[in-house]
Amino acid sequence: MNKSDIMKQTKTLLVITLLCGVVIAYAQEREYPVPPRMAPEMTEFWTPQPKIVTPGNRTDVLIPAPSDATVLFNGSSLDEWESVRRNEHLPAAWEVKDNLMWVVPGTGMLQTKRSFGDCQLHVEWMIPVGTGGESQGRGNSGVFLQSRYEVQVLDSYNNETYANGQAGSIYKQYPPLVNAMNPQGIWNVYDIIFTAPRFREDGTLQSYATMTVLHNGVLVQNNSMVLGGTVYTGIPSYSAHGKAPLQLQDHSNPIAFRNIWIREL
Ligand code: MG
Repeated sequence: MNKSDIMKQTKTLLVITLLCGVVIAYAQEREYPVPPRMAPEMTEFWTPQPKIVTPGNRTDVLIPAPSDATVLFNGSSLDEWESVRRNEHLPAAWEVKDNLMWVVPGTGMLQTKRSFGDCQLHVEWMIPVGTGGESQGRGNSGVFLQSRYEVQVLDSYNNETYANGQAGSIYKQYPPLVNAMNPQGIWNVYDIIFTAPRFREDGTLQSYATMTVLHNGVLVQNNSMVLGGTVYTGIPSYSAHGKAPLQLQDHSNPIAFRNIWIREL
């Protein structure tokens, strides 16, 4: 074997070794660091606590629906609503008593039969006098726009909890700008202006949902950019959807609702 033959052989061996290396590298699954498992507390922020503001409209007057609104509850029936349990559509299982709609603990979410997109929503709710518990366990419910994006309902009067989980928060995303909560037995009013998220044809997000919320006439969310569907554990994200029902949450606490109406935008 002459010198040039040896060089050729060496080159061939080198190429084969390199190719084998590449094949082995692809064949072996690379090991990446595993992120720590999310716990609910990781998305619960206690400070700063929103400043307390006493709302001005404590006269207990119903704000009637305007002429172009869809009335979802006016004290008489649950015709506009149904219950959902394990994805099953059932007759509305909450109770109408004294012209009020009451959460019946354990019956699950109540949702509208109709679906909605952009809207202006008016909801009145009340924590009954004598309701006990603390933090998230006192007067917990929720208004879920498009069955996904929760404006928290909670007894936040003299009841501290994480700021982004109190009444008027976009749950686990944004605390309310202030705490405008009325005490037990006094009605609370939410006026919510909601812009639905937009999705491209391939399902990717084109524009975020936004929410402006007034709690008892006081601004608590100012065109907040919703980060995705509400989650208890983890980071919110979007998945494409169209119009969807409005939902009210059964969080096992008895709460009354009345005078619910919506204007589609
Ligand atoms: Mg809730």
